[in-house]
Amino acid sequence: MYNFAPGPAMLPDVVRQQIHDEWLNWSNLGFSITEVSHRNQLFEHIIDENIALLKTILSIPDEYEILFLPGGAQTQFALIPMNLLGQSQQADYLVYGHWSQAAYQEASRYGDIKQINILSDSVPYSLNIGHLADSIRPHSVYLHYCSNETIESICLPDLAASLDLPIVVDMSSDILSKPIDVSRFKLIYASTQKNLGVSGLCVVIVHRDLLDQAMPLTPSILNYKKQAAAKSLLNTINTFACYVLNLVLKWTQAQGDLAHIAQHNHEKAALLYSYLDQQDFYQNQVAADYRSLMNVTFSAPNQELNQLFVKEAEKHGLYALKGHKVFGGMRASIYNAMPIAGIKCLVDFMRQFAKQHG
Ligand code: PMP
Repeated sequence: MYNFAPGPAMLPDVVRQQIHDEWLNWSNLGFSITEVSHRNQLFEHIIDENIALLKTILSIPDEYEILFLPGGAQTQFALIPMNLLGQSQQADYLVYGHWSQAAYQEASRYGDIKQINILSDSVPYSLNIGHLADSIRPHSVYLHYCSNETIESICLPDLAASLDLPIVVDMSSDILSKPIDVSRFKLIYASTQKNLGVSGLCVVIVHRDLLDQAMPLTPSILNYKKQAAAKSLLNTINTFACYVLNLVLKWTQAQGDLAHIAQHNHEKAALLYSYLDQQDFYQNQVAADYRSLMNVTFSAPNQELNQLFVKEAEKHGLYALKGHKVFGGMRASIYNAMPIAGIKCLVDFMRQFAKQHG
């Protein structure tokens, strides 16, 4: 069975096994991690280790705080403007898909937010990022974008080097999939249910420069500065998600550095895209330069065949290939934990299905 779910997504086998093995007796306590106080030293050690592991894996400089906040990425859609727009109300948002649009809409409730639409009008989808500096307002506090649109499977090339203002980025679906230069961003956030474990948390990596600009009404529990001072333990944190994050970070580190992981992800995605490019039964609608390495969308010639594909794929052990309801078709999410063998099985099945129905 290979699980192509977009999130909550598959966990590495060794992580599932360890959760299983430790469930009845974590740390020799005689019970599970979910029954331990978040104030217990053993649990606090997990938080410290998670911070240290993220720092090492992503080479996060010392000027950044690493927070584990409640809710997923959508909670941050509100918390980012609340925490950052206290002194000036302006921010600009690049929009090219479902999640960047949702982030823009939520932020608009809290300030003077400009939407900069960068998605091309026609298929294959591409992104208009040539003259961004002309669209960004000089007094904006930050520019927000999403590095990988999970639903449409479109990936934005790294813009941070070329833009001269604080950048806030939603990396929910591609964090830890490739090396990034954290110092070029002011805030990076990612919900945990893809490359970071299970749902229930959002990892926020925020430059200390930004901790003094929250709106006065920002709830304490959602205030970055207060949570940083309390090591994200202002209230009862989702302890299970912290524990799984710990196991996934250790697994990630054991795979090699992020350059190595990126190379593996390239190889995996290339298997699927090169097959898609050499046949004409399935369609992929994203221009080559903007194709996601984490989510690959494709569709069969009609709706009936899409439905049949998803059903038949499950019978072959290929699970959760149905595309998102707003986009349709199929989507294979192939995060870090997906082995190359899973992609090979999927391509074999796609070939077989196309032969039968083409
Ligand atoms: N941003 C991106 C890029 C996503 O893929 C998702 C959902 N998986 C979200 C935001 C929303 O995340 P959550 O469900 O954790 O709020």
